[in-house]
This record gives sequence, C-alpha cells and structure tokens, in this order.
Amino acid sequence: MIDHRRLGRDLELFVSDPLAGAGLPIWLPAGAAARHAVEEYVRELERRAGYRHVYSPPLGKRELFERSGHLGWFADDMFPPMRLSADDEFVLRPALCPHHALVFAARGRSYRELPLRIAELGGMYRAERSGVLGGLSRVRAISLNDAHNFCAPEQVGAEVREILRLIGEAHAALGVRPAGFRLSVRGPGQRYVGDDAGWARAEDLLRAALDGVDAVEAPGEAAFYGPKIDVQIVDAAGRESTISTVQLDFDKPERFDLSYTDSDGSRKRPVMVHRSLVGSMERLFAYLIEVHEGAFPAWYAPVQVLLLPIDDAQVDAARRLCREAEAAGLRAEVDAGGSLGARIRDAARRRIPYVGVLGDREAADGSVSLRLRDGRGLDPMPRADALRLIGAVVASRSADLLPPA
Ligand SMILES: [Zn+2]
Repeated sequence: MIDHRRLGRDLELFVSDPLAGAGLPIWLPAGAAARHAVEEYVRELERRAGYRHVYSPPLGKRELFERSGHLGWFADDMFPPMRLSADDEFVLRPALCPHHALVFAARGRSYRELPLRIAELGGMYRAERSGVLGGLSRVRAISLNDAHNFCAPEQVGAEVREILRLIGEAHAALGVRPAGFRLSVRGPGQRYVGDDAGWARAEDLLRAALDGVDAVEAPGEAAFYGPKIDVQIVDAAGRESTISTVQLDFDKPERFDLSYTDSDGSRKRPVMVHRSLVGSMERLFAYLIEVHEGAFPAWYAPVQVLLLPIDDAQVDAARRLCREAEAAGLRAEVDAGGSLGARIRDAARRRIPYVGVLGDREAADGSVSLRLRDGRGLDPMPRADALRLIGAVVASRSADLLPPA
C-alpha cells in the first residue's frame, strides 16, 4: 500500500528522529525544495488576490491567548505555558488568529480598507498525544497556510465565494482532488461561544456561499467560535481529514474590540473570516506524496532535470548544462558515477521528471537527449531548446511533462 512515510524515507523528503521528538519531523533538502516551490506558488496566488503577508512569532504572552479565548476553550490541545518569571508566562500558539487581530488593531481602520486580507504561512503548535502521530499527517509543529479576512458584514458572502474559487485554483495546480465539501455546524455535547442568532446568521451565510456545491452538513464539527466550510480529502489508508477551510468568526472581533470607521463616520465591528487554501504544509505533503506516489508535477519536483554523461568524456558538458539549467531557474543535478543503466533506474526511483543524456555526439554538437519520467524519449535537441521546453512546463504548472502542442 502507498504510505507517505515510506515514500518520504525512500525519496529523502523528511525524517522523523526520536531524538527530536515524535510529531516533529525534519524536512530534508528534497522535501524542502518541493515545499519551497509550493509555498512560493501559494504566496503569489494570494498576492494576486489582494492578500497582504505578515510575519508574527509562534510564541506569545499568556494574556494574548486568554483574550482570544484559546486558553479558556482550547487549552487541552495546547502545550502548557512556560514561566519565565512570576508575572511573565508564554505559550506556543495553537493558531495565528490572535496575532492577526493585533495586525488589524495596529492602527485605526476605515471601511475603504475592507476586506483587509492578512496572510501568513506561520508556525503553530498542538499538544497531540503521541499515539496519534505519524509522518507528516498528524504533527505537533504545524506550518499553516493561513489568512484572516476582515470584512464588513455585507461583504462576507462575496468574500467566502472568492475564497472557494481560490481553493479550487490551488487544488487544480497541486493535483489535490477533494473528496467532498462539508458545512460544519454546531452539535450536541460541544461548547460554543456566542448567541444563537449570530450562529444562525453565520450558518446561513455559509449555506448561501455553497449554493451549487454538493456539501454535507456535519453537526458538532464547527470551531468553538463559529461555523465553517471544510474541504475534505481521503488518504491512501481511507482516512478522511480537512485540507482547506473557511470559518466565520463574530467572537474574536468582540474580544479584541476591533472596529473600523464606516462611510457615515460611525464605528462598526468587522467580521473575521479565517481561511486556509491548502491547509498545513505537513498535511498537504502527506497527501501529495501519496496521491502522486512521489512523482510530483515538474513545477514542484525536488530535482527537475538530472544530467547523465554516458562516460567521463562528457562530464564537463553535463556540468555546463547543469549550470545553465540552474541559471534558468530550474533545479538540476549531474549524476556521473556507475553504469548508465543503473543511473537511469535510480532517476526513475527518485521520480525525476526529466533525464538528459549526453554522449560524445551531444557533447560535441551542444545537444541533449531528454527522457521523460513516463517513459517517453525525445530526439536529441539543442540544449537551449531542452531548457526552454522544461521551463515552459514548469511555468505552466502543468501535470503533463510536455508543453501543449
Ligand atoms: Zn484563525
């Protein structure tokens, strides 16, 4: 069976070392290269959609998380506070929302700035029990693709629909195939903040935004502060989890006393929309490793092109082409040791999308023969043409390894 933990080890994407701690995986160079490409893509997608990125620390004063309600409602899932002195306690944050509320509150806000979309790919921590931890799918240190969109109440419906559109765009580029949409609402036996009218209003808004989308309602799956839309995935073992989410929150703007000046000069309370397009990098990659069986689309493959000189005479030509590929923005390597057959098999094992073979003729006339990961081979072509071909596929973020004819 496909298991991202085994593939992650075979492809040297990440390692879990008991000395570092369970649920605290370390991303190796190949995994980090793939993740970096995905992070760059997500930031660019958000920037083009009007998001503004911030940085905030994964640690904050105890009082910040008392104010946000996390210590009152969510303490069981948090690491215990760290005491620095009698009146100075810090906690590892379980969410980014409190810091982003402070970004909104950093100065007076006008209705003209709304929706104000504050994004961050930031660290947060959950005190998961060691029994449930495994690979990248359940971790204690989480790198979340997060944003908080501060809206006027009448903007919320359009904002949620635009977020659902962005989620669809990101999923298409990454190769995520959602198993379904879920409207997570209140349920019996759970504690929630806020009044019934506010909850009913928020649930109706999300229901309206899901118009035309096939979604199931899930009682009891709401966040403690509001209902949410969850986009679900299923892993190779059949376990369902949430990858993307859109949550409405009327509670934190109250707790942090957030307000903006409306067009008539009055003070108004914004609505806070918590959203993640692709979830945490850890859960996303646990899924992507399995769904692609390690053969990522070329644009986020750790090594995009591997250059193989047939023998020692072409090593210099291979190194030159490798530098040209790197200068063109591609991730390239040379593999010069051992038999050609063994090196081709190793490239296939590593799921490298393009292998460039250089023999005497190619070294002499400045060409290269490309072999694609799916078994197709191309006639020798000038090196610049080969780099252009790979560059075009990478830039298009296509799943196919040849540009459209
Ligand atoms: Zn949040």
